[in-house]
Amino acid sequence: NIELFFRIDDTGFLPLMLQKLGYNIHYDQELTNEYSTIIPANINSSMNAHDKTAYIPISSGCNQFCAYCIVPYARGLEKWFPVEQIIHEAKTHLAHGVKEISLLGQIVNKHPDFLTIVKELLKLEGLEWLRYTSPYPTYYSNELLALHQNEPKLCPHIHIPFQSGSTPVLKKMFRGYNAEQCYTFIDKIRSLSRPISITTDIILGFPGETEQDFQETLKLTEYGRFDMIYMGIYSNRPGTFADRKYPDDIPYSVKHERRSRLNKLLYQISTENNQQEIGKIRTMMVNEIGANGDLYGYTDNMKQITVKANAKTKGIKIGSLLPVKITNGVVFKLEGTLQ
Ligand code: SF4
Repeated sequence: NIELFFRIDDTGFLPLMLQKLGYNIHYDQELTNEYSTIIPANINSSMNAHDKTAYIPISSGCNQFCAYCIVPYARGLEKWFPVEQIIHEAKTHLAHGVKEISLLGQIVNKHPDFLTIVKELLKLEGLEWLRYTSPYPTYYSNELLALHQNEPKLCPHIHIPFQSGSTPVLKKMFRGYNAEQCYTFIDKIRSLSRPISITTDIILGFPGETEQDFQETLKLTEYGRFDMIYMGIYSNRPGTFADRKYPDDIPYSVKHERRSRLNKLLYQISTENNQQEIGKIRTMMVNEIGANGDLYGYTDNMKQITVKANAKTKGIKIGSLLPVKITNGVVFKLEGTLQ
């Protein structure tokens, strides 16, 4: 019963397309032309329970054409939004009470003015936290990493999708970097005087991935001490290079078993990392309040945190930024008390 497919870039033309399909649609021509510059009123309805975070796209599409990925076909080639438009959008959100801005792009730090955007945003009044996702290791400058060290508002968290720890697999994926570059990048982050939480994405069972390749991914995970890995079991995306050229030759049971082993290692690292947080003071964004008054949210270094209800938590609202002393660290979670 599907009547229409269209590219995300063509959303502004939706009323026209519906008309062509015979629907009785009235639309404002001027608004249609200016679709891409409209700032959404409801900024984060799907990602957060509060209205203190704004997600601002700074680019759309992608030119990387990783062998497995449908994004360049579905979203089109990369387009960068002008700096002035991004800053204007940020100012509008901050004027409405936003505290946290997260910049979005398929390769967010490939925007030619990325550093300028970050620096300009950091100057804006009202901004408490700045994040961005997803960056690419080969588009990082030393200056950007230095900002993570020296600018308290640039959150101490980097989500860097490595996808694999094996050079032959990365080459087949067309990622444009090798395992050695992943290690070098981790070293650069770890050399900063401010501790940065690192999270990543990994694909399990990419075509041709051997046990040795998988061992390289485990090795990278061990080295990177990742706080979280978003794991994807490989499956074909019709129309991609991998779908056309690489047989999906790793049995599902093997992919599953590799995911279990990676998860086991991740659980251990996450627990150890989180136990090292005990005693530290972190800022927490409250994202949910339980029926019993417990506060749930996330920290500046992007860890889930719970604060048990007590006299101090009474009256706290969703979307508050609060100082919390970490009292416990378990797998993927922290516990703390309000300061
Ligand atoms: S995986 Fe990311 S970088 Fe690669 S093509 Fe897809 S969107 Fe682009």
